[in-house]
Amino acid sequence: MADSRPEPPPRRFVVQLHRARRLHYDFRVEVDGALVSWAVPKGPSLDPKVRRAAFRVEDHPMEYVDFEGIIPAGKYGGGDVIVWDAGTWVPYKDPDPAAALAAGELHIELRGEKLRGQFVIVRTRNDDWLLMHKRDEYAVPGFDPAALPLSVLSGRSSDEVRDDPELMWRSDLPAAEAAVPLKAASHTADGPAADDDELAELDKLGSSGRWHVFGRELRVTNLDKVLFPGRPPVTKREILRYTAQIAPTVLPYLQGRALNLHRFPNGSDAAGFWQKALPGHAPGWLPRWREPESGTEYLVADEPAALVWAVNFGGLEWHPWTSLTDRPELPTYALVDLDPGPDTAWADLLALARLHRTAFEHLGVAARAKVTGRRGIQIWVPVERGPTFAETRAWVERLSRSIGAVVPDLVSWAWERSGRAGLARLDFTQNAVNKTLVAPYSPRPAAGAPVSAPIDWDELDDPGLRPDGFTIRTIGARLAERGDLFADVLGRPQRLPPLH
Ligand code: MN
Repeated sequence: MADSRPEPPPRRFVVQLHRARRLHYDFRVEVDGALVSWAVPKGPSLDPKVRRAAFRVEDHPMEYVDFEGIIPAGKYGGGDVIVWDAGTWVPYKDPDPAAALAAGELHIELRGEKLRGQFVIVRTRNDDWLLMHKRDEYAVPGFDPAALPLSVLSGRSSDEVRDDPELMWRSDLPAAEAAVPLKAASHTADGPAADDDELAELDKLGSSGRWHVFGRELRVTNLDKVLFPGRPPVTKREILRYTAQIAPTVLPYLQGRALNLHRFPNGSDAAGFWQKALPGHAPGWLPRWREPESGTEYLVADEPAALVWAVNFGGLEWHPWTSLTDRPELPTYALVDLDPGPDTAWADLLALARLHRTAFEHLGVAARAKVTGRRGIQIWVPVERGPTFAETRAWVERLSRSIGAVVPDLVSWAWERSGRAGLARLDFTQNAVNKTLVAPYSPRPAAGAPVSAPIDWDELDDPGLRPDGFTIRTIGARLAERGDLFADVLGRPQRLPPLH
């Protein structure tokens, strides 16, 4: 008997090549508004003789169907993701996929770019699954998914996406907001930086007023107050403008982390002080985290308006925690702080930084460097969550001691408070909970509003490099030209190799 019901609209499917702890293919099919998912270590095949082991993993939201980018280090699945194949599917046997799934045998016809034809996915007795292609006109004996490694979405390889990702998936955010752009809006047409209208509104305000930016209404005050000397001096209005422009670039380094603010409400010439707890008058919409032991509420700059609020509050320097709020005791970076003594020559500090560069190359450890915007250089090493702060501290201490042994006349140690002043301090003690280094792109309290600027390792050989050579007025052009040179520390979890 002919079935008079219309064919249901095609459902979507995606296969994402995901390099996390292990490379695997995530096979996801739309069922009842969610992506029912399996991890397939060897990937799907069009070879009808092949049965692939598949492991059911949690359903993903439909928003994930187009996701290509990185998952932060230390998060479940941390690594890179490309859309290896995508398209639509229809059931070819059982019209009710949810019931078929429950019964443990789903027959689906895929209409993708790489995968086409009839597949079946069957639950085995031990609750794993097998993915197979039927013998049909699309069958390809000997099909090897690894021979077709590029994204069908962007044409890029996994390495290319890892090295220059556009999106980061934040599973702790609502699905509609979880794909966070990583590129500053001044470099992409559709990024989320403050737009021209928002900046024009700031320009037009008197000395105080209400500014609509990033979907929030903020009361901003003392806009013409000079906060940094310089020619011309830098006003609060200018620093707020910079913040609204740089926020999309900085946010990936702040999100999910408590933020300590170094406040200079009276300008960079006056004494600064640390603000860790959110003040009682902080607006209710600000994302925050209550530290369980102390009960202290910290700001978490999960949205760009939160950073703008912090700057209006005088928080000119941004210091994110080295750990994420869900596991504050576990670092996601090991930090190397090359801290010059009062008489350390810049050339000596560069020599030390180059020795670290060589060490990281030799160890095969990914690390990124930045100048601090004052006199120093810092190196951030992304680590897979697991080691404690005591362990990352011991690792950095061991590394620094080996390097220090090469140039004993250049270095002093964290515990040496006097006597050898003038030498550069290798301060591994920064690897501790709630000890923080300044964020990339954060302004520093000095004339002209210098910023802590990421550098390429090669720039350590550039005679023009200065630790405070980039300012809020010049870093935008550098970003447009070079991209975010620090992005490598995001979504690249790695294990620190043993040091002997
Ligand atoms: Mn996966």
